[in-house]
Amino acid sequence: MEAPILIVDDEEKIRTMLCGVLQDEGFRTLEADSGESVLALVATCHPCLVLLDIWMPHVDGIALLEQLQSREPELPIIVISGHGTIETAVRATKLGAADFLEKPFSLDTLLRSVYRALGTEPSQPAATEPATATADTDFPGARTTQKIPARTIRQSVVVHGRGLHSGVRTGIILHPLPLGSGIVFGPLSSDVLIPATVEYVQSTGYATSLYREGTGVKTVEHLLSALHGYGITNLLIKMQGEVPILDGSALEFCQLLDSAGIIEQDEEVEALSVDRTYQIGDHGAGKFLRIEPSEQLEIDYCLEYPEPVGRQEFHYVQRDADSYREMIAPARTFGFLKEIEALEEMGLANGGRLNNCIVIGEQGIINPPLRFEDELVRHKILDLLGDLYLLGQPIRGKVTAHRTGHGDNVALLRAIREAQAPHMSESAPKTAPALQ
Ligand code: ZN
Repeated sequence: MEAPILIVDDEEKIRTMLCGVLQDEGFRTLEADSGESVLALVATCHPCLVLLDIWMPHVDGIALLEQLQSREPELPIIVISGHGTIETAVRATKLGAADFLEKPFSLDTLLRSVYRALGTEPSQPAATEPATATADTDFPGARTTQKIPARTIRQSVVVHGRGLHSGVRTGIILHPLPLGSGIVFGPLSSDVLIPATVEYVQSTGYATSLYREGTGVKTVEHLLSALHGYGITNLLIKMQGEVPILDGSALEFCQLLDSAGIIEQDEEVEALSVDRTYQIGDHGAGKFLRIEPSEQLEIDYCLEYPEPVGRQEFHYVQRDADSYREMIAPARTFGFLKEIEALEEMGLANGGRLNNCIVIGEQGIINPPLRFEDELVRHKILDLLGDLYLLGQPIRGKVTAHRTGHGDNVALLRAIREAQAPHMSESAPKTAPALQ
C-alpha cells in the first residue's frame, strides 16, 4: 500500500480540508493534531510526505522540523505557516523544508507543492505555462534552430539582503522545478505565479519589474541575468516584493547557483534564433538597440556619458557559466550622485548604499576601487542579459546597443514577440520610458 501523507495541524478544519483534497487526488492521509505525536507517527507509519504547521500551541515548529529532518533526512516536509515572513521561510528552507506555504493558500498552490515535493507529475500541468515559442513556429522574423539542455538546480537555496529601491529587508528562495515549467516567480504572500516573461513586465524605469493580478516582483534583472548566464530554464523563485540588491552585481546569485548545484534535465529547450534584424531607436540619434542573426548570443555595448565617465565599449560572447561568471557577473550597478539624490526624493534607491552601487560624482568615482576598468559597460550587458531572458527561452543573435536601458530592451523583446505571434503582444502592458 502506498505511503500516506501526514498532516500536522492543530486546526481540525484545516486538517479535514487538506485530507479531502489529497484523498481526491488519490493519496492516503494521516492526521496529527499536535507536535508531540509526530515523531512517533513518522517512525511507525513511514509517511511519504509531511505537511507541517509550524505555528502550533506548545510546540516549537522550527525545532520539530529540525528533529524530523535529522531523523528522516530523505522525508520531504512542506512547512505551513499562518504568520509567514521571509525570515521564517528562509529558516525553514535552510533546515531542509521542501517548500513553505503561507496561509491562506489555494488548493492549486498546495497540490503544486505536494507534487513537486514528491517528484511526481500531477494529472494537469502544475505551473502556469509561460508563453514560449514552440519548435514548429514558422513566423517571419524568428525561427528556432538550436537546442540546449533544460536545466534546474539540484536543491533549494536561499539568500537575503535589502531591496535597492525599497530598502526593505528581503530574500529569495530558489526551488528546482520540473521540465516545462520555465522561470517562475512565486510571491510568498499570494497564490499568484508570475512567469518571467515580457508579457508581465510593467515598469522599466530604473529596474525591471513584473506584475500579475495586482501582485508584483521588482528588480528582477540581475537574478535573471545570472539564470541566463547559467542557462537555467526551470526554476521557482519565492520572494516578497523586491529581489535583494546584494552587492549590486550578479556575483552572489552565481555563488548561490553554484552552491545549489546545476542539473541537466531529460530534455532540450529551443533557443530562438532571429533571422532578420530588429531595431529600437535611431542609429543617427546615437541611441539604439539592434539584434541581427548570429549562431551565438553576442553583445556589443557602447556606453557614453559626459565626463568623467566618457565612452566605454565591450564585446561579450555568451558561451557558458564560466564566461558569464568571470566577465559579466561581478560588474556592479552604478548611479550618478545627483541622480541618486533625486531618486531618494522619489522614494527610490533607499537600499542604495556605497557598498552596493558605484557612485559617480563630478570628479569621478566616489567609492573606488572598480572591479574592472570598464565595469559600467559590463553592468549594462549584465542588465541586457537579464532583460533578454524575459523572452522565456534562450535567444541567439548579435546585439548592438548604444546608450540604451531597460525600456529599450523590453521594447525589442516585444517587437520579436510580435513577429512570432502578433496576437500575443496585444494585451501586454505599456512600457514606461527608459530613464537610463
Ligand atoms: Zn542593473
